[in-house]
Amino acid sequence: MARNFDLIVIGGGSGGLAHAQRAAEYGAKSAVVESGPLGGTCVNVGCVPKKIMWYAAHHAHQLQHAGDFGFDIAVNGHDWPSLKASRDAYIRRLNEIYEKNLGSRDVTYLRGHGKFVDANSVDVDGQAYTAERVVIATGGYPIVPEIPGAELGITSDGFFSLPTRPQRVAVVGSGYISVELAGVFNGLGSNTTILVRKEGVLRNFDTMLRDELEKALARSGIKLITGFVPSSLEKTAGGINVLGQDGRVFGEFDAVVWAIGRAANTMSLNASAAGIKTNAGGFIPTDDWQKTNVNNIFALGDVTGRDALTPVAIAAGRRLADRLYNGMTDRRLEYDTIPTVVFSHPPIGTVGLTEEEARKEYGDSVSIYETRFNPMAYAFSEDKVKTAMKLVVVGAEERVVGCHLIGDGVDEILQGFAVAIRMGATKQDFDDTVAIHPTSAEELVTLR
Ligand SMILES: Cc1cc2nc3c(=O)[nH]c(=O)nc-3n(C[C@H](O)[C@H](O)[C@H](O)COP(=O)(O)OP(=O)(O)OC[C@H]3O[C@@H](n4cnc5c(N)ncnc54)[C@H](O)[C@@H]3O)c2cc1C
Repeated sequence: MARNFDLIVIGGGSGGLAHAQRAAEYGAKSAVVESGPLGGTCVNVGCVPKKIMWYAAHHAHQLQHAGDFGFDIAVNGHDWPSLKASRDAYIRRLNEIYEKNLGSRDVTYLRGHGKFVDANSVDVDGQAYTAERVVIATGGYPIVPEIPGAELGITSDGFFSLPTRPQRVAVVGSGYISVELAGVFNGLGSNTTILVRKEGVLRNFDTMLRDELEKALARSGIKLITGFVPSSLEKTAGGINVLGQDGRVFGEFDAVVWAIGRAANTMSLNASAAGIKTNAGGFIPTDDWQKTNVNNIFALGDVTGRDALTPVAIAAGRRLADRLYNGMTDRRLEYDTIPTVVFSHPPIGTVGLTEEEARKEYGDSVSIYETRFNPMAYAFSEDKVKTAMKLVVVGAEERVVGCHLIGDGVDEILQGFAVAIRMGATKQDFDDTVAIHPTSAEELVTLR
């Protein structure tokens, strides 16, 4: 096996695979080092299995509303173990496809743990390899707080290993992973509580989205406990209790899930041997071109601490390969206007500036167009799930700088609008686009 490469990528997740494969297509002699299953977080313990679980909860909601359309349905239960088995098998197939893809592109797959020897050498389980350039794409891992009994809880990784559905669940954390996992548990029948440190969930999102989501959580039966900082977990005969710094105790739970953030996978990388600087959280800072402080070493994806999303890691990886191996000298990822979806129930789609951010940046030249409505899907239903939409526009030309959506289907609606917004669309462009009727999406081009 070759020991010397043009490129070694440490980490075979979304970003690392995208970069190595694109570089190899341009003729670079490339290797990927991966210590776990290929595909990284997204494929194995992130987006993919999460979306499958979201679909399961989504089906549960659809079944609840089927009666409104004349169906006479008795739902006799949900088989979590069989869903898990199908999901795990699906992921194994993806792992195999990823391995085949490496082979078909002539990327050498180095199984094992990679760590730096120096700026041009990487040790993989005792074997040294050298390369002109090294790319770090080692991603992150879920944080567990350092409090007594923390090990009684699980993380999002543990969520995907659960053999059966726990009936009484606490999810600790206010970010999108917390909201998403809580939605799955609740949708499939668990009594679910979200515990957050501050005043609510999704703190950096537009206020309209947060307000509407919190109403939806309450309506669906999820309890939201705010201002709660856990100080310990304890196991009792009845389950797990979460004790707070303020003396409050919540329990008894069958599972407690830590969803309090992620740290960078850099502890065992021996980055200092190559002279690579990491910041306080262990993340690796890069310049606009994904370059670390060391000239021949680049970093991309979650390990950089910027927008931790799969398409971001992939885009950064592909663009870096375009630039380094295909002469596209200006090619790089711009990190503004990145669209994202939260797979809550209902889902959220958001791109660009929140109203608060826009007002900070553009002051009085910001205008807001907003609507809330009951989608036709709930025409016959007592339990209507509202949709809300907001456009944030700036200046006399009313350039759209933010689009925030919550409601059924917005996860699929957002992508096209994100293209328009990235291209600099104005409110007039939205208005001049003929609506598609009857849809929820049409509301975005008929806002007044
Ligand atoms: C529960 C959950 C849900 C998510 N949902 C979404 C979603 O819906 N949409 C979305 O866009 N993003 C989602 N994400 C985020 C997404 O998974 C990440 O942004 C993405 O996987 C980052 O890709 P990456 O290449 O930077 O790192 P990763 O995919 O984490 O890959 C890093 C790889 O490096 C390997 N590695 C680490 N250190 C070493 C070493 N020293 N030697 C060898 N190998 C090493 C790891 O084993 C891993 O396979 C989710 C994440 C989680 C946890």
